[in-house]
Amino acid sequence: MNDITNQIRTSVITGGMSRKQFLKITGKSVAAAAVAGIATACAAKAPVNQSDNLQAASPPARVPAQPDEPIVLEEWKSKNDVESAPTPTPLPPDQRIGYAIVGLGHLTLEELLPAIVTCKKSRLSALVSGSPEKLKKVAAQYGVKPQNCYSYDTYDQLKDNPEVDVIYIVLPNGLHKEYVIRGARAGKHILCEKPMANSAAECREMIAACNTAGVKLMVAYRIHYQPHNRKIREMLQGKTYGSTKFIQATNCQSSANPAHWRHKKALAGGGALPDIGLYCVNTNRFILGEEPTEVFAYQHSTPNDPLFAEVEEMVSWQMKFPGGVIANCVTNYDSHDNKSYDVFCEKGWMKLENAYAYKGQRLNVAHAEGKTRHINDMVIAENDQFAAEMDHFSDCILNNKRPYSTGEEGLQDHIIMEAIYESARTGRPVKINSMVNVNRGPEPEIG
Ligand code: NDP
Repeated sequence: MNDITNQIRTSVITGGMSRKQFLKITGKSVAAAAVAGIATACAAKAPVNQSDNLQAASPPARVPAQPDEPIVLEEWKSKNDVESAPTPTPLPPDQRIGYAIVGLGHLTLEELLPAIVTCKKSRLSALVSGSPEKLKKVAAQYGVKPQNCYSYDTYDQLKDNPEVDVIYIVLPNGLHKEYVIRGARAGKHILCEKPMANSAAECREMIAACNTAGVKLMVAYRIHYQPHNRKIREMLQGKTYGSTKFIQATNCQSSANPAHWRHKKALAGGGALPDIGLYCVNTNRFILGEEPTEVFAYQHSTPNDPLFAEVEEMVSWQMKFPGGVIANCVTNYDSHDNKSYDVFCEKGWMKLENAYAYKGQRLNVAHAEGKTRHINDMVIAENDQFAAEMDHFSDCILNNKRPYSTGEEGLQDHIIMEAIYESARTGRPVKINSMVNVNRGPEPEIG
């Protein structure tokens, strides 16, 4: 009997027997007894399974009262693995800085709007567009109220909107000056896309307008907030591989539409140089922590190509820095995408692929130890550069700090680019005598 019961019990528990088979073997009474036995066995086992470990209970954690201090959770990994970033410290949504984004083009739709919803200190409050259809659709997608949607004609009314702290200008370059100045007069802080304007003279007017209005001005140099570029800067300035000797930098991409504003001089200010070559100018200054004293350049455009009727296709230039570094740079608007640079130092080198891209940075470093040459992949977590940049500006507003990427930073790049164009035009090196004090604010906190 016990054997049969055990056989039944095992079969029922494992699901290996149908109800019909079960009754055939046993008869109803045995079946009843067996089922009762299973129930008893299960009941007897219950306290063993529901041990203390199965109870929901909060493990030890440090929870600082300060909103900007992260919660520290109980550790479970050893120090042999890469450390996790601290837990995020988002502000409650109603305490975040409100942004009005101006211009619903590629950068806004593809990068900035997806980024701002991940921000910790910034939120989307308003939109400005010349297209009522886009405005309506995008406002609905991102929860912007109809009364916070503006056209270029109603733009100045942003001054009456207390939900807007910052106006973010994402228009063609040739429109930056007008909209920055009007935005400053509306009493709003200004974040302006790169290049800051069409000329150094325009930058000076924009800086003056923001100073007069008492608002903060930041230029959107996202590379200042990108971890791989920041790591290279730390290694160069800390002389990890001794002194820096030279840099080779490339920012190239293709273009196809001669009717686009990027190919119209009045709206773009220039061709490849101010749009993408600017990254080589600015990032070299950023990683070296020095300002160039002289430039030498060549410029070329494919003859009769309608893309380059008004703006240049390619500029190749050298920048000489006071510490002796020469940066050799090239930018091209009609070649397959490449956004990389190499830094050559006394005792090693660094190579950053996708250096100026939105993502996909890959850092290789090399140095020698005795008979061994180390060539390593330095794996660093990526961030969203746009979210980091907006949160930095919001932090500056919340804590009344000067932004790291100042208007003077944008002006400096225009002074250098004007020297590059002059050198290409005259065929001679051009000394840069009119540099400004960039006067960057405190270092941004990058998670
Ligand atoms: P797009 O051409 O994709 O968008 C520009 C938007 O500006 C248009 O969609 C339109 O918005 C508005 N606009 C207003 N007047 C004009 C006009 N006369 N001609 C064309 N557009 C007009 O440009 P991007 O988004 O690529 O670039 C915008 C700015 O952002 C530029 O300064 C550029 O240099 C910068 N940028 C920065 C990047 C970065 O990584 N930091 C990357 C890409 C661009 P609407 O239809 O809503 O009125």
